[in-house]
Amino acid sequence: MHETTGNIAKRDGALESPWQTAAYTAATSTSTQQTYDCLIVGAGITGLTTGLLLQQAGKNVIIAEAHTLGFGTTGGTSAHINTFADTTFAEAESAFGEDGAQLFADAIRDGFNLIKHNINELGIDCDYAEKTGYLYAETDEQVKLLHEIYQAMLKVGVPAHYQHNVPTPVAFKKALELPGQAQFHPIEYLLVLRDEFIALGGTLLENTPIDNIESNDGLHVASSGERSIAAQNIIYATHMPPGINVFSFRCAPYRSYVLAVKLTDDTYPDAVIYDLQDPYHYVRTHVIDEEPLLLIGGNDHKTGHDDPEKAFDDLEKYARTYYNVASIEYRWSSQYYIPADGFPYVGQIPFMPDGIFTATGFNGNGMMLGSISAKILADQVMGIENRYSKIFSPSRLKPIDGFTELVKENADVAYHFVADRFGIPETDSLKQLAPGTGKVLELNGSKLAVYCGEDGGIQALSPVCTHAGCIVNFNAAEKTWDCPCHGGRFNTDGSVITGPPTKALQTIKYI
Ligand SMILES: Cc1cc2nc3c(=O)[nH]c(=O)nc-3n(C[C@H](O)[C@H](O)[C@H](O)COP(=O)(O)OP(=O)(O)OC[C@H]3O[C@@H](n4cnc5c(N)ncnc54)[C@H](O)[C@@H]3O)c2cc1C
Repeated sequence: MHETTGNIAKRDGALESPWQTAAYTAATSTSTQQTYDCLIVGAGITGLTTGLLLQQAGKNVIIAEAHTLGFGTTGGTSAHINTFADTTFAEAESAFGEDGAQLFADAIRDGFNLIKHNINELGIDCDYAEKTGYLYAETDEQVKLLHEIYQAMLKVGVPAHYQHNVPTPVAFKKALELPGQAQFHPIEYLLVLRDEFIALGGTLLENTPIDNIESNDGLHVASSGERSIAAQNIIYATHMPPGINVFSFRCAPYRSYVLAVKLTDDTYPDAVIYDLQDPYHYVRTHVIDEEPLLLIGGNDHKTGHDDPEKAFDDLEKYARTYYNVASIEYRWSSQYYIPADGFPYVGQIPFMPDGIFTATGFNGNGMMLGSISAKILADQVMGIENRYSKIFSPSRLKPIDGFTELVKENADVAYHFVADRFGIPETDSLKQLAPGTGKVLELNGSKLAVYCGEDGGIQALSPVCTHAGCIVNFNAAEKTWDCPCHGGRFNTDGSVITGPPTKALQTIKYI
């Protein structure tokens, strides 16, 4: 497994992604501003793109990031830039009509073009490369689905055609060629957005978690410990806004897995390739430190539900079935959010004071959707009309039929709200915990989230997620406590890593 030395960008898990090889240096920016036009919470692709757009427009912007730039999913992405999304245009049409599907396709294209524009304008050296994409079907049912996808793509003007020659070792029945896809190195990209943002007068505060906001007379005052920041507008570019809000019930958190492997031969594809299995797989090639790596990803499951180690094992089996794997250089997982009706939520947060915005529910497509959200949010802050504001509005009233995922996800959230409040007898004892593992145990009638450190030391926490009271599960791969309800994630010491909770898991002191 690869080991990087020196100053690396941090990430919300113990496993290292290849993007952390970027030469990360902490940003230094100071400001004497009393009140900002906008405070952006979170420095992933959404936050930094929004910050740059607003600063370019002459606004005074401050970005507060709880950890370091790219710490969230942007540091654990697989960095495909696509002309299509996980919500197919056929699904988009069934939920939002033909116009809705067209707007969705246009938004994806505009997000893609914004990334390309930034790379060209700022001369960003981030391994940007355009590739041909392929999507293939292995069963008759998938052939039918592929055809629906194809027809809906043609309708919204996204180039696609059937193709027999696909650079995949997998036996398939039918495949689409999708010209004009791309890939890049997300952290190299963010580092230059950050530098430009600061050069234009923007302020970035890393290691600054925003834990509260008070609003009065159109002014918002955010606090991070002792520090307070006053701003006219606040944007939660946190992937999921904190606290219990409408998004807690409209977005389902998922984990997704990626391996970056070296091959014994030279069969690295010069393409981005996707199957239609459920959960699905994709492959692409990325050169890191002058060595080609095959990125194989997928095997997604709802956060806190399946065994992450098994997901990695299955992905590795898949990789070894189709490729001559010499070594596994990286393996990592990260989190994304599936929106209830298939479209992201971008704009004013319902039931919050005016001027508090967010962008969430990007599914596995946040490079394009995070970028276009940045444009929508920047326009909203500046009072400029944006053609995507309405369709992506978090306040939209959308009938949920046509998007079956929602029913499944919401049933599951409701189940955990109820089931986690009943004690389930736990027969395991602390002694059975191996070093480096964790488990929710029932001891003397109380549930405890217990982690046994590599040195054998025990860290006991309340397993009750501080967000909505569900019981966390241990993620053995990333060594984190993950909440199955809304995707809150905590370190083994209980501190918040990511997701909607803002408070640490309570430490149990008597152990
Ligand atoms: C394995 C995987 C592969 C993916 N592959 C692709 C792909 O190929 N193409 C694609 O388009 N999309 C992909 N996605 C989705 C995409 O990576 C995400 O949608 C995108 O990175 C989200 O970016 P973001 O800036 O909105 O959020 P994040 O990158 O998660 O950034 C949010 C930031 O907010 C900070 N934060 C949170 N709370 C606070 C607080 N209270 N105070 C201060 N800061 C805070 C966090 O530390 C974090 O840095 C993938 C997702 C996964 C999980």
